[in-house]
Amino acid sequence: MAFINENYLKLQAGYLFPEISRRVKAFTDANPEVAARIIRCGIGDVTEPLPAACISAMHKAVDEMGVRETFRGYGPEQGYDFLRNAIADNDFKARGLDIEADEIFVSDGSKCDCGNLLDIFGTGNRIAVTDPVYPVYVDTNVMLGNTGNANDKGQFDGLTYLPCTAENGFVPELPSGPVDLIYLCYPNNPTGAVATREQLQNWVNFALSCNAVIVFDAAYEAYISTPGIPHSIFEIPGARECALELRSFSKNGGFTGLRCGYAVIPKTLMGRKRNGEKHPFHALWLRNHTTKFNGVAYPVQRAAEALYSPEGKQQVMQLVNFYKENAHLLQQALSSVGLDVYGYTDSSYLWVRGPKGATSWALFDRLLQHANIVTTPGSGFGAAGEGYFRLSAFNSRSNVEEACRRLIDPELFKG
Ligand SMILES: *Cc1c(COP(=O)(O)O)cnc(C)c1O
Repeated sequence: MAFINENYLKLQAGYLFPEISRRVKAFTDANPEVAARIIRCGIGDVTEPLPAACISAMHKAVDEMGVRETFRGYGPEQGYDFLRNAIADNDFKARGLDIEADEIFVSDGSKCDCGNLLDIFGTGNRIAVTDPVYPVYVDTNVMLGNTGNANDKGQFDGLTYLPCTAENGFVPELPSGPVDLIYLCYPNNPTGAVATREQLQNWVNFALSCNAVIVFDAAYEAYISTPGIPHSIFEIPGARECALELRSFSKNGGFTGLRCGYAVIPKTLMGRKRNGEKHPFHALWLRNHTTKFNGVAYPVQRAAEALYSPEGKQQVMQLVNFYKENAHLLQQALSSVGLDVYGYTDSSYLWVRGPKGATSWALFDRLLQHANIVTTPGSGFGAAGEGYFRLSAFNSRSNVEEACRRLIDPELFKG
């Protein structure tokens, strides 16, 4: 008999999205005549096809794979130099940031990086997450035994939760005591909030003061349009000594189905042994990557490289602007019925406060039943999300326009 990892039994059984599906199914089973009217604004997946530059780069790469002279087998586990150089040059050096190509590790996406990264951290680290939070940060720590059990609000013992509210602009205050690992995601999923240079400097200073590591998730970097908002944690002095960054091509290039992203681990980021001896995380991650991973498919890395070509950049901008225009239309509809709407300026999400007293699930049911719109209940991302719902701007224009027509019904949000 093999033993199981009992930590998995502490997980909330992936409560949020299955519960959404269950409620949508119960509603459409009872009301089959409206099933075709349902508009899904809940899921954070892109809807528009890949940029043309990626398609032609992949066609070419596939043809190379069919010819002996240009065929490629195993590539470097950390990614091909052509892609690591394009990333370092465009995402970092062009912004004056000191990140070298060999500090970039190409992967099959940020979700996997998030989980795998914990391999190089010891057990017993004190973990801080925001509330609301992208559930992957929490669940991967639960699986490794870095937490106790969940309470009735879904919060795990042993995690430090940092509340993000309208009052603090959805950027948390520093914790009252030291922690070891801090997850920050800006622009944020689910709130769509951004963090200013001062706020990030505050976090970097804190991390340096207690030798903590910041995991900075910048999956939505391409959506930043407010001038002065940092695009990378490495814009903040001191970050090379206390932060690593996760990037993904999912939300800028629409790679959710293609799978490619990267992690930046500066060689100057140190961890410690129990006896205090310092070791660079870069060496551990290199060892992890080369042992457990065999690289991203060659045609996919060529597609990612193409995002940095002049046409590719233009096409990414069009794609991102399309979703941001969706977000703007949804914001106008919701603001016109008097709701407080956050997040839409620099992200693909709207974080909406319902009328006073309405719970997130009550809002979810009301929008499903009366507008046939599927949203994501804010409380599903954490206790501090209660009373909010998240609307995703990843949708076709016609769905967004129809959703707007339904959302401007003033009856919908009566207290
Ligand atoms: C979508 C998303 C990612 C990207 O995940 P991939 O695995 O690269 O598709 C990372 N972090 C957050 C918060 C996201 O919403």
